[in-house]
Amino acid sequence: MPEPTAPIPHEPQDEAPQSAPELLEELAHMYLRTVALPFPRHPATFGWQITAGTLAALAARLLHHVQSTDPAVAAEFARLHHGAYGDGPHPIAVGRWLEQNIAEPAGADLAQWSAEAKQAAKDAREYTNAPTAAGKLGVLLGDDALSLLISGLGASWKEWDQHGSTRRRCFLPGCTAEFDLVHAWSGEGDAQGKGWQSSTAVGFACPQHTDIFWTGENQHVPAWTSTGDDSAALECTCGWSTGTVEFRGHGITLYQVHALQVLRAAT
Ligand SMILES: [Zn+2]
Ligand SMILES: [Zn+2]
Repeated sequence: MPEPTAPIPHEPQDEAPQSAPELLEELAHMYLRTVALPFPRHPATFGWQITAGTLAALAARLLHHVQSTDPAVAAEFARLHHGAYGDGPHPIAVGRWLEQNIAEPAGADLAQWSAEAKQAAKDAREYTNAPTAAGKLGVLLGDDALSLLISGLGASWKEWDQHGSTRRRCFLPGCTAEFDLVHAWSGEGDAQGKGWQSSTAVGFACPQHTDIFWTGENQHVPAWTSTGDDSAALECTCGWSTGTVEFRGHGITLYQVHALQVLRAAT
């Protein structure tokens, strides 16, 4: 039998910890990245990106202050940020530090805070899966951050309207209803977007089909769930599922067929 091989020692790629000036540069780049257009389509991703930007800005100001008053302490913070292998402070060490220095003095229980955070994560997942009214900003962020592109490029509502890229159709094959995102959101054409809803899983539904599939008595609200590293399934609240699919469009097409079958069974 061959001798068991000795474990390979971990060799950090980057032996030298980051210096405070290097970390300041990194934070500045990080902040600029979080505000660069285009923004991500998914509302949750967008939210966390903005949060990261806020924290990068705060950390940069604090570190800059410490660097100007006590460079040795600033270097310590840079080492903490770098971590043992350049991938940040160890989560267990951070958790212990939070417990001793923040949660315990506040008379709180870190396990309770963790449980609340877990619940908030579950709520956020449900919230982002649920269809939203088309007139809300969240829809635009979920669709293509159109309003932000418009403000960023200085284009007028009219220009976008003429390009026709702002029109959205009902997800259901055979339904010819469509509406204009910009009109719905700007309030210019309230009636147009009224009753329309957006689902991050499959797209938009007209008022009639929103009633039937997403808000009526027998709901068929779709949501994606991961089934592996590169695969996912589209599940319906009625219990139907696409099974594992490798392409988003494949899942959406199967959901469209499911919706047509639901309609046919109801008539
Ligand atoms: Zn429709
Ligand atoms: Zn269903």
